[in-house]
Amino acid sequence: MKSTILIIEDNIKDMQFLKTTLERENYKIICAENGEKAFTVLSKDKADLVILDILLPDIDGFEVCRRIRENDLLVSMPILFYTSVSTINEKLIGLEVGAADFLTKSPDERELLVRIKNLLNAKRKIDKIVNLSFYDELTDVYNRRYFQQRLRDECDRGRRYKNNFCCALLDIDYFKTINDNFGHLAGDRVLKNVAKIMRKNIRTSDIICRYGGDEFALLLTETDLNGAYATAQRVRRFIGTSETEKDDSVPGITISCGITAFSETIKDTNDLMFQADKALYKAKQEGRNQIKTYAKEESN
Ligand code: GH3
Ligand code: MG
Repeated sequence: MKSTILIIEDNIKDMQFLKTTLERENYKIICAENGEKAFTVLSKDKADLVILDILLPDIDGFEVCRRIRENDLLVSMPILFYTSVSTINEKLIGLEVGAADFLTKSPDERELLVRIKNLLNAKRKIDKIVNLSFYDELTDVYNRRYFQQRLRDECDRGRRYKNNFCCALLDIDYFKTINDNFGHLAGDRVLKNVAKIMRKNIRTSDIICRYGGDEFALLLTETDLNGAYATAQRVRRFIGTSETEKDDSVPGITISCGITAFSETIKDTNDLMFQADKALYKAKQEGRNQIKTYAKEESN
C-alpha cells in the first residue's frame, strides 16, 4: 500500500518540488500550507510521515512539531524538518522538539528519498507495537487507554469546530451469573461475541472499547443524541435476540446502556463519562435491558 506523506510548506515552489518528486516515487501526498490546516488534516487523514518547514505563516514549524509530539495517537509519526533555515541552532531545536530528522533543502533529492524510506520503515515497526498497546486482547476492540485519548481529541474538536458527538456506556446484565453458572471461559466467549456484534452495528468511524470487565464504551462521532440512541437500540436488540446469525447470537444475554451528548458545558472527558455512567446506572435501576440518555437536570 502507498505511504502517505503530509507536506507542511507555505512556499509554493518548494511544495511543488516535493510533491512532484515524491509522487514520482509512488507516495501519496497531502499538502498543508500552514500549521492549523496541518492539524485538521492530521485529525482526519492517515499520514505516515510529516515533512515540515520551519517558517510558516501562522504557528512556526517547531510549535507544530511540539504539538504533534504531545498527541499520543501520533506517537510513531516521524517528522522530518526540510528547510532552508539550517544553522546548528535550528537543527538542535528541531531535534529537541521531537523531529526524527533534519535536512537542508537541496535540488538533489537523493538524500531526502533515502531518509524518507528509512523513517517509514522504522514507523512500520513501531506501529506494530503501538497497535498492540491500543487493543484489548480478549475482545480485539480498543482498550480504555486508546479510548481516553480519542475522547480527549474529540472533545477538543467539539469545542473548536462545534462537532456533534455522543458517548455511550454499555454493560452486560447479570454477567456474573454467566461466569458462576457456565464458567469463566463461557463468560469470555460472551464478551467476545458482544464486542463482535457491537462492531458490526456501528460505523467504521465510531470507536468501540472495552472499558473494563463487562463494560464497553462507544464514541459515536458526528452523531446527535437521537442517532446515538438508534445505534444503541440496534446493538441492544441484536445482542438480546437469537434471530441473529447463529455464530453471532448471544441468547439470553441483555445489555443496559447510558448515553450522553457532548455539549459546550462539558469540562473534560471525566465529565462526559460521569454523565454516561449516570444514565447507565438509571438503566440498571429501572430494570436493565434498556437505554437511558443523560438529561441535564440529573446533574443536581
Ligand atoms: P449488573 O447487571 O449489575 O451489571 O451485574 P453484573 O453481574 O453484570 O455485574 P458485576 O459487576 O457484579 O459483575 C461483572 C463480572 O464480570 C464480575 C467479573 O468477575 C466478571 N469479569 C470481569 N472481567 C472478566 C473477563 O475478562 N472474563 C470473564 N469471563 N469475566 C470477567
Ligand atoms: Mg454487568
